[in-house]
Amino acid sequence: MQTGAPPKAGTLHVVATPIGHLGDLSARALETLGRVDAICAEDTRHTRQLLGHFGVERPLLALHEHNEDAQAASLVERLRSGQSLALVSDAGTPLVSDPGYRLVRAARAAGIRVSPVPGPCAAIAALSVAGLPSDRFAFEGFLPAKGGARRDRLARLAPEPRTLLFYESGHRIGDSLADMAAAFGPARPAVLARELTKLFETVLGETLAELVQQVRDDPNQRRGEFVVVVQGAGEDADGRIAEGRRVYAALAAHLPPSTAAKVAAELTGAPRKALYGASG
Ligand code: SAM
Repeated sequence: MQTGAPPKAGTLHVVATPIGHLGDLSARALETLGRVDAICAEDTRHTRQLLGHFGVERPLLALHEHNEDAQAASLVERLRSGQSLALVSDAGTPLVSDPGYRLVRAARAAGIRVSPVPGPCAAIAALSVAGLPSDRFAFEGFLPAKGGARRDRLARLAPEPRTLLFYESGHRIGDSLADMAAAFGPARPAVLARELTKLFETVLGETLAELVQQVRDDPNQRRGEFVVVVQGAGEDADGRIAEGRRVYAALAAHLPPSTAAKVAAELTGAPRKALYGASG
């Protein structure tokens, strides 16, 4: 019977997929991917392989940064007509340094229900094992590829008090870490999370200076995918006060405390009142 009522709109499910270990695809992600009318994928070949592993066969539609604007309207039409769609990226959570936000925005603007199926995300996985302050953090995604622009961005981030999260690839990790050490100070606590959930997973670090050294000395530490987690600027983000206290302790054995503090402050750039009376 023809009622004339508009069809009930479908839902856009934003589905996280593994960042390495296939066991991290959630049961709900699998169930959702298996029942939608079509799956919008960043790279359809990559997603077909993932689905094949789980025995899921659904129509795939390419949605990547070069066609997202053009595709969004027709995908919203499908949703309006009652189809349900899933959005996935090559790895992890869509929209996190990945395509999808234009489609999500268009769907929400059209009153379509957009529902997350949360799961793996490299930034959050790295934060969860870094052991750096995690109550407030800022996700910075990829730094600019060109050295000058990258150093400008880092200089602006140097006073940021929140823990910083960066994505980086193997061919730039050495340069990026060196630029971070120069901008934030070599003593800034930092952690390099590489190949998370994969065979060669490593989580390294104490300071940026140590990470620069480890990546320089071991070519294996330049292979794969990386998240860099850097502690935010604190009272002693660049280690000047710690250095000033060491110098003060040495000088105070030979000089009056006020003179030792003055000289240590001049030599290290640490504020004098942070040194006076400190034992090192
Ligand atoms: N949407 C993804 C997410 O939720 O994490 C991120 C996609 S972004 C295009 C890819 C970057 O994420 C890589 O260059 C790397 O910096 C980071 N990444 C992805 N998988 C990773 C892993 N297993 N270990 C460490 N970093 C990873």
